Amino acid sequence: MKFAKTFCRPSASIEVIPIGLPVRLQYNEHGLLQSFSIGFSADLDPMFSVVTLNSEAYNKVFNRIKMIVPNTISVTGGTTWVYGVFYTDSIPCDEGIVPRSLFDSYVDDISNGGIYQFYAGYVHSLAALYRGPLVIRNFLSTNNFNLLPHVIVPLTMSDDTLQQMMNPGSYPFKYSFIGGFFIFEDLNCRYDETNLLQLNVTKDVKPYVDVDGYLKGDIITDSGRSYTFNYSAILHHQVTKGCTLLVERDDESSALSILATRVGKTVEKVPENISQEIKCPVCGKLYRGGDSDAPIQCDDPHCLSHGYQDAVKMLTTFKLPTLSYNSYKALVDAKKIVCLTDLIDLPPCQDVEIKAPLATAMYSVIPSYIVPDFALLEKFANKCNNKVETVAYYLRILCI
Ligand SMILES: [Zn+2]
Repeated sequence: MKFAKTFCRPSASIEVIPIGLPVRLQYNEHGLLQSFSIGFSADLDPMFSVVTLNSEAYNKVFNRIKMIVPNTISVTGGTTWVYGVFYTDSIPCDEGIVPRSLFDSYVDDISNGGIYQFYAGYVHSLAALYRGPLVIRNFLSTNNFNLLPHVIVPLTMSDDTLQQMMNPGSYPFKYSFIGGFFIFEDLNCRYDETNLLQLNVTKDVKPYVDVDGYLKGDIITDSGRSYTFNYSAILHHQVTKGCTLLVERDDESSALSILATRVGKTVEKVPENISQEIKCPVCGKLYRGGDSDAPIQCDDPHCLSHGYQDAVKMLTTFKLPTLSYNSYKALVDAKKIVCLTDLIDLPPCQDVEIKAPLATAMYSVIPSYIVPDFALLEKFANKCNNKVETVAYYLRILCI
């Protein structure tokens, strides 16, 4: 479910469009079904079309459409367009931005006898003025169209709120994945697609540690593109080679989150409470992952898998040459460092004389998760008269 992208004021009225084939039906001045077109523009321009079919394909689809939607409407005297979606319970597996990437498959399926229903949400007529959701829904209902689910946006609206409003009584669709919205504000209507992403996974996903120490996995798709996810999400949604993912992209952060995993056209619900033990690729320790999509890292605070930023902090504070993450990783993999201070004994630092105040020295080598605040160490060093022996004395007492 993706609502954050859709900016509506409280009290705006929205109609929820499931993933399907968005179609505009055209009725002539006699109220007879005349033609159709696929896809909507944001301003619902009656001349806009996304897909152009050759005449044979067009006629095949139109013959099927005539069997599904009302062939006549009550309004006459001018052209009228009815906007809605052809819906079926299964979702094609084509890769790309949903619903646009699925249009060709939906067209094939409809023309080959697939079972669809048409749900309408908006009408525009040259013969009469239909404005506002109540008038429009009344027109559609009296002309025997199925209506899209409809909600009034409350003062605080979130994806969760919308999900709760889509209860089984008012939401006739199998899955909660939304393809778009008709949004009524100030009696005007606009269309907004949710732009979900569908990915076909072509390789098994192997975990790796990123520069900040978190476990990640790269998904390689049909088109050869690579998408990075938290490895916890890979486990949680049971992502394996051959499956199809429905993914949501946060427009501001570009972060991707998996909504559903499936094999074939049916969306299968992933069992809850999935958890697996993960072996840390660096220290070998086992820890839990897959309970949720949240980032995970090795839970051993001394593990070098999340030590790179502390290594950079140490070298920078000592004014020593720093190293790239790949160089750091190579040293860890080769077991040339088992704790961060080993870096000081390796080239190019080994022959450099380090001079630093006591507080700076402590700040350099103490990982930031233990003492993030330099001022605290400065205070401690001052209380110890900046003498190493006094610091060592207190450390011994603390360790007893
Ligand atoms: Zn580890």
